[in-house]
Amino acid sequence: MSLRKNIFLWTPSKIFCERPFMTTALRIREVRVRFAPSPTGHLHLGGLRTAFYNYLFAKSHGGKFILRIEDTDQSRIVPDAVDKFENDLEWVGIVPDESPSVGGPYGPYKQSERLSLYRNQVKSILEKGEGYYCFCTDRRLDLLRREALRARQVPRYDNRCRHLSEEEVKERLDRGDNYCIRFKLMSDEEAFEDLVYGRISYNVALNEGDPVIIKSDGYPTYHFANVVDDHFMKISHVLRGVEWQISTSKHILLYSLT
Ligand code: GLU
Repeated sequence: MSLRKNIFLWTPSKIFCERPFMTTALRIREVRVRFAPSPTGHLHLGGLRTAFYNYLFAKSHGGKFILRIEDTDQSRIVPDAVDKFENDLEWVGIVPDESPSVGGPYGPYKQSERLSLYRNQVKSILEKGEGYYCFCTDRRLDLLRREALRARQVPRYDNRCRHLSEEEVKERLDRGDNYCIRFKLMSDEEAFEDLVYGRISYNVALNEGDPVIIKSDGYPTYHFANVVDDHFMKISHVLRGVEWQISTSKHILLYSLT
């Protein structure tokens, strides 16, 4: 399997250039990369390969290799997976510089232990009007999906709850209605330069609608937690499986929150 086919690399520092409060990130010369598995299973060869690319990239630049556990999908957690990740990595000679067991300056390194950080970020997103409560039920979302498929269109959320009044939102929250929190997309498309594949662009608004950032169980979505953590852990480069390439436009749009 070739590097070109299977790994994709993205440099967030390009985006950092456009964000004044990120200017300190530009001054950080240190390479910091992360391997961020979800404990929904044990380490497999594909994951190990991604870990190796990250590790070798970090070590060849005198940088840091960080192990971050992305355990926001609580329903699919395999109980001993986290400990096994560290043991299996060590067994092949990859010793993280920062990890749940080693610790480090930007911990904790398990997302389930960083919930207050995500909550603070969401609070400020809501206060600035960059996000909103969505009360749409699974049934409605399913109907939307089916209607779109019937009309041979791409199924996407129609952003209905963007337009709820403050009073309506308050009333529904007081009533205890289930909700998730969505991010208001302000631009449709965000192109980026993938260091392996070249220029990539994907229209999130057209294909998906406003993305969920906090799920109805109160946990952040992978996309949101990933962006918040890469920022706060001062990650300099992202090397990951190509299956995440399409999500990068969404991540860049999330990065653009001011
Ligand atoms: N938690 C994701 C996975 O297990 C990581 C994707 C990423 O590196 O951003 O595939």
